Amino acid sequence: MTAQIIDGKAIAATIRGEIAKEVAKLKEEHGVAPGLAAVLVGERKDSQTYVRMKKKACAEVGIKSIGVDLPESVSQEELIARVRELNADPEVDGILVQLPLPDHINEEAVLAEIDITKDVDGFHPINIGRLSMKGRHPLFVPCTPRGVIELLDRTGIEIEGKNAVILGRSNIVGLPVSMLLLHRNATITICHSRTKNLPEVTRRADILIAAIGRAEMVRGDWIKPGAAVIDVGVNAVDDATRKRGYRLVGDVNFEEAKEVAGYITPVPGGVGPMTIAMLLKNTLDGRKRRLGLIE
Ligand code: NDP
Repeated sequence: MTAQIIDGKAIAATIRGEIAKEVAKLKEEHGVAPGLAAVLVGERKDSQTYVRMKKKACAEVGIKSIGVDLPESVSQEELIARVRELNADPEVDGILVQLPLPDHINEEAVLAEIDITKDVDGFHPINIGRLSMKGRHPLFVPCTPRGVIELLDRTGIEIEGKNAVILGRSNIVGLPVSMLLLHRNATITICHSRTKNLPEVTRRADILIAAIGRAEMVRGDWIKPGAAVIDVGVNAVDDATRKRGYRLVGDVNFEEAKEVAGYITPVPGGVGPMTIAMLLKNTLDGRKRRLGLIE
């Protein structure tokens, strides 16, 4: 059996097309474009790249991006003051503070300052809290977990009643994706570094989400035949045949897994493109909510 490859790049492109149409309609009917503020502290190359990609993606769908670049030496008070200005700015519908922040700044304190109606990363404790409660609704769901669910839905993979095993329990991926699957009536098992007999647990999964940051750790024989495998992991491994000296692989051994799984996401080109598409969607939702078009 060879798995159906879930083409995250194509699905994300479809979603970006849908967003661009909605943004154009908003501009026509309400005279405003959604705005996303990206706060970048310091000179980390990876963070600069992520912010650049996010701004480019905004431009492509007609979302206005507002860059706030601050020096590595910025104090926590100054950073919080900038966040508060963005909270008050009517042109800003979404605020993202690119992580990680320098060591002298308390990330939690900064994220808690973001107005929950502009928390497009979904990391505010109130949004995460609501996500973790039954019958409550966060204003925003973190982008990567939201992207994972979209991938399942748009591929026609049923979630209700399925055994979903999630590898990883981080606040950014593992935990929120687990909550989303639970709310969609999957039976969830959350695994982490202390879980015993991991392959035995994963072999029970109809839906397997891997978000551990361990290159190709999940082997083919860890997978239940026919399962849907969503590989969130992004790991660089040395590869002398590549110009840059490395290549990116997931947490799942793709070649082995695709012979067993029913569906599988590749790395790159699976979950990654969905994360940015969901950031755009969250920003659009922010503006729609402020216009009273959605709850
Ligand atoms: P974290 O390092 O925050 O969390 C990793 C989780 O995996 C932890 O819960 C940890 O357990 C668990 N874990 C680590 N090693 C093992 C192991 N050997 N066996 C079982 N569990 C293990 O990572 P993130 O959640 O931030 O990211 C996970 C991966 O997803 C990374 O590769 C990251 O690059 C990628 N990622 C991709 C995104 C995308 O857009 N495609 C977006 C965000 C992340 P414990 O809690 O016990 O320490």
